[in-house]
Amino acid sequence: MPTTILPTDQPPLLHHAVEEAVRLLQAGEVVALPTETVYGLAADALNPAAVAKVFEAKERPSFDPLIVHLPDRKMLETVADIPEDVHKTIMRLIERYWPGPLTLLLPKKACVPDIVTAGLPTVAVRISSHPIFKRVATALNKPIAAPSANRFGAISPTSANAVLAELDGRIPLILDGGACLHGLESTIIKVEPGSPKNMITIVRPGPITPEELKLYGRLQRMTRNVVDDATASEAPGQLASHYAPRTPLRLLSKPSDFIPVEGKTYALMSYRGEEKDGYLDLTDWKEIMILSPGNGKLPEAAVRFFYVMRELDKLGVDEIIAEPMLEHGMGVAMMDKLRRASTRTA
Ligand code: AMP
Ligand code: MG
Repeated sequence: MPTTILPTDQPPLLHHAVEEAVRLLQAGEVVALPTETVYGLAADALNPAAVAKVFEAKERPSFDPLIVHLPDRKMLETVADIPEDVHKTIMRLIERYWPGPLTLLLPKKACVPDIVTAGLPTVAVRISSHPIFKRVATALNKPIAAPSANRFGAISPTSANAVLAELDGRIPLILDGGACLHGLESTIIKVEPGSPKNMITIVRPGPITPEELKLYGRLQRMTRNVVDDATASEAPGQLASHYAPRTPLRLLSKPSDFIPVEGKTYALMSYRGEEKDGYLDLTDWKEIMILSPGNGKLPEAAVRFFYVMRELDKLGVDEIIAEPMLEHGMGVAMMDKLRRASTRTA
């Protein structure tokens, strides 16, 4: 099927693009939409046949559940229950972070098809703050299932062109909303009762950082982050190898860990491009791309993260070498992704 990209940068174009997206979603088709995190592949979450097309286009295994995006808070009650013992914490989080890149795991209501949640009793929900996504969701007035618009296990797309590179010929439409604001997938959390504070488990680190979340409960990082098959029920989607370029990627912990092999070519994914960090001179790099030039600002690195990974993947080098980043704030999510991306070569 031919894949169309519709621009949205002028009001009449935006109007037309949103109308087209809604028409296709109503007809049970899939559409790639920009969100503030990464581009999502959207389908009517209450239509199992439409959701099946998301899995098909992405070649996503059926045990990996999708996030459900709501048009507004009122619809939360349609798809999920909020347990009494965590109600207050959930409400405070929603008040602070919705619309935005925070996904909550909650007990699901019966109307949410099993294909969306991979048969789990919980559903992952959030509200996107992206103006184009919001328009489409509001006009459709239904929950939208939307995982990242890439083939399963590949690099998440943060531009319309990146979606095209992943899914050309597999989906009918992409709305081009430019580059994504955050550049990393939403933070996913689970809230459980606890005393004196409720417990918050970060199931997937993302733009809402542990430092922020700890103001709302006692924080727990998921310790088990290697899941390799359908036993994934505890942490579906948190597969060891994920977000991976086709080129082998290796995350270093210090410069001396790298010993170039004669005749092999390497590209460097540098955190801040600082000579004093000791990575720039390690070899005759075919290419050096810097995530956050200068001081190394984590949110800036996040915006460029998947773009840089994708560009380096195109070079045809033998290996991409990644510098480590500070592991706080958004650095937690990026280091998590770099570890998963480098699993293949570990
Ligand atoms: P995405 O590809 O950004 O839509 O991410 C979907 C991810 O959300 C999955 O891979 C899971 O890690 C997580 N997720 C979605 N629904 C659930 C759920 N019910 N329980 C646990 N994790 C979930
Ligand atoms: Mg994804």
